[in-house]
Amino acid sequence: MARLPLFDSHAHMDCEHFDEDRAQVFEEIEQNLAGMINPGCDRESSLKAMEFAAKYKFVYAAVGWHPEEIARMVDEDLTLLKQWANNDKVVAIGEIGLDYYNDDNAPHPLQRQRFIEQLNIAKETGLPVILHDREAHGDILDILKNEVQGVNGVFHCYSGSVEMAKELVKMGWYFGFGGSSTFTNAKKVREVLNYVPEDRILFETDSPYLTPMPLRGKRNNPTYTELVAENAARVRGVGARRLMEVSTLNLKKLFFKIK
Ligand SMILES: [Zn+2]
Repeated sequence: MARLPLFDSHAHMDCEHFDEDRAQVFEEIEQNLAGMINPGCDRESSLKAMEFAAKYKFVYAAVGWHPEEIARMVDEDLTLLKQWANNDKVVAIGEIGLDYYNDDNAPHPLQRQRFIEQLNIAKETGLPVILHDREAHGDILDILKNEVQGVNGVFHCYSGSVEMAKELVKMGWYFGFGGSSTFTNAKKVREVLNYVPEDRILFETDSPYLTPMPLRGKRNNPTYTELVAENAARVRGVGARRLMEVSTLNLKKLFFKIK
């Protein structure tokens, strides 16, 4: 198969789901895609992401503490984050954000504090961010508008409304569409997919989770970004190949360290 002009902008290859056959999956990615970004979720996975990026030319890393991991984050981690940002293949701070869906997560004020601290590191180092927003749309918008301005990035697996998307477009943000945009009940995501200007679209899988249709239920794989992009092209009524090319240009514009 020929390589597609397409990146998976969000895949967790460090996940234990890939422990059995990780090298083989990386080989499939190299054969099928232009590249991928592995975001970190804590210290260990950020280190893993950088390790993969050092080993594989087509892999880039993002580093950060995921809202679900905030309870274990310590102040010293912020110093690490700043150091890691200098790594040539660290292209973003992420994935960071707020997750109000799960009550087991750290209390909201602590999540907000760590999110703001990490956004400030992005601002200081000039890197874009990869955002996780689960049922926290209002607080995230408030923070981006009023607490830490001048940071840009992508809302990974965007789940907000068209109204919120309009505000984010004005603010310069990008939108990551993944497996959930292919689900039969994903009416709201598809409305957003239809609305979002072409130059703000990125594709992703969030592997190993959220496997796109028609493979939902199987382990996700970065090469399935193709299914996500094809679905998006159908929804927008445009050619898939060209939309893939555009999304890759968008990705390189946002994650400017990727040449
Ligand atoms: Zn993720």
